[in-house]
Amino acid sequence: METGTSCAVWRERTQAWLRGQGEPGDREAIAAHRGSCPECQQYYRDTVELLAQMRQGETRQIAQSPSGEKGRRRRNLWIALALPVFALLLWNTVKRDVAPREEGLRAEGSGARVDGRALAAETWVDAPENSALETDANSRVRLVLPAASAELEGATRCLLERKSPLRLRVLAGRIRVRGDAQIISNLAELELSGGEAELECDGASVRVRSHSTGVKLTDTTGTRLLPPGEERVLDR
Ligand SMILES: [Zn+2]
Repeated sequence: METGTSCAVWRERTQAWLRGQGEPGDREAIAAHRGSCPECQQYYRDTVELLAQMRQGETRQIAQSPSGEKGRRRRNLWIALALPVFALLLWNTVKRDVAPREEGLRAEGSGARVDGRALAAETWVDAPENSALETDANSRVRLVLPAASAELEGATRCLLERKSPLRLRVLAGRIRVRGDAQIISNLAELELSGGEAELECDGASVRVRSHSTGVKLTDTTGTRLLPPGEERVLDR
C-alpha cells in the first residue's frame, strides 16, 4: 500500500526474519512498514502466533520422543494439522492484498474516540455521518469506505461530515486520504478524485501535501491543482 516495496514482499521478509533468516536492517525496515500498514501489522501478529503454536507442538513432540510406526503416524498427524493453518494464513494474506477486510473505523492504540466514546483498539466499528473523530498522541485511526480511505494520526480532531463521497472537516492534527474525498480546514480545502493527499492543521496554519495527480487545492486565492509531491503552507 505504501510506495515502492509491496506488502507481499514485506510479508515474505517478515516470514524470513521471524525464522531467523533475515538480513541486517530487516528488523528496523519491517517495523517501519508495519507502523504505517495496519494489514502488515496484523499479518505480523498472526505469523508470530502461528510460529509460537508450531514451536509448542514441536517441543511436545520431542518431549514424547515418538519412535517407529507410532512416531511416524504422530508426525503425519502434525503435518495434517499444520497444513490447513498455513493455508488459512496464506488465504488471509491474499485476501488482504486484494481489499481491506472490513469497512468502518479501526483504531491502533487505546486513545481514539468517536463522539467522545473510547474506540476499542484493533476492532472495526461503523461510523455514522457527523461523527466527531479524535485520536491522541499515541493512537491512530484508519477509516475505510468503499471509495475512499483516511488515516488520522496522533492528536487529530475532525468531523466525518459525509461518507460518500468522503468529506472530513479537520479541526486539528493530520489526516491522509486516498480515493474520492474532500478534506476541509479553516484555511484550505483539498479535493481528490482517486488520488492521495494529506492535510495538517494547527489552527493558525495549514500544511497541505499532494501525493498524486488530480489533487485540487482551494484557499482564499482560488482553486488550483497541486502537483504530486508539492507542499504548501498556508497562514492566517
Ligand atoms: Zn503492508
